[in-house]
Amino acid sequence: MLILEVDRINTYYGKSHILQDVSLKVEQGQIVALLGRNGAGKTTTLRSIMGLTPPRSGAVRFKGQDIQRCKPFEVARKGLGFVPEDRGIFPDISVLDNLTVAAKQSADGQRRWSLEKIYHYFPVLQRLRDNKGQNLSGGEQQMLTIARTLMTNPDLLLLDEPCEGLAPQIVNQVLFGLIKSLKEQEGVTILLAEQNARFCLGLADWGYLLDKGAVQFDASSEEITSNEEIQRKYLSL
Ligand code: ATP
Repeated sequence: MLILEVDRINTYYGKSHILQDVSLKVEQGQIVALLGRNGAGKTTTLRSIMGLTPPRSGAVRFKGQDIQRCKPFEVARKGLGFVPEDRGIFPDISVLDNLTVAAKQSADGQRRWSLEKIYHYFPVLQRLRDNKGQNLSGGEQQMLTIARTLMTNPDLLLLDEPCEGLAPQIVNQVLFGLIKSLKEQEGVTILLAEQNARFCLGLADWGYLLDKGAVQFDASSEEITSNEEIQRKYLSL
């Protein structure tokens, strides 16, 4: 089932025309990667979907409904969970409170994520549950941001640059396995914006290559992985 469809959106910051007819699709249960170098337009695409920087033209459909005119809180309520690049956890309250403050039922009234389940996938957060958010390392904060968003029981998770600022061994030994098991064991659907193409292509079913605010190429991860010319042109591999 198609869960998200972005249909030829054009997004501006003031007079700067950033996204040019960007289209993409996410099927339920998939991981879809938005790839591209710094400044390619990945964050702007996610912000456009969330209604944080609404597109001036084109459509965004989530579970078949037009959402391009919805406010960010309405978009979140419909079941889109956004994990921003700057993480934005609450620094002065405990890990446990960060998680429980976020908890809400899904758009269809279910609670798929409990604290118990979160601790199963994020054992580090159970260990640190009484620590304040500000005392966590970068990697631990990234885990908390993802976990907190899962506590809102989203139908689709938008992850913006989850590898940013993390040590390579955290990315490879913790984050990769975590995202893989969220998909394989929990069926979480993810749109993943990331400069780290190797990380993304190891996880995603399908990838979109963005450059200069436009989709230049899209294909299965296997096809992108085996296409050296495309990688040289659009990715920093
Ligand atoms: P990054 O990895 O740096 O986040 P990105 O692919 O996510 O890169 P965007 O952040 O979407 O790229 O930026 C796309 C373009 O929009 C860039 O040219 C950037 O300079 C410009 N841009 C981003 N934010 C703003 C803003 N608030 N005002 C004006 N221009 C902006």
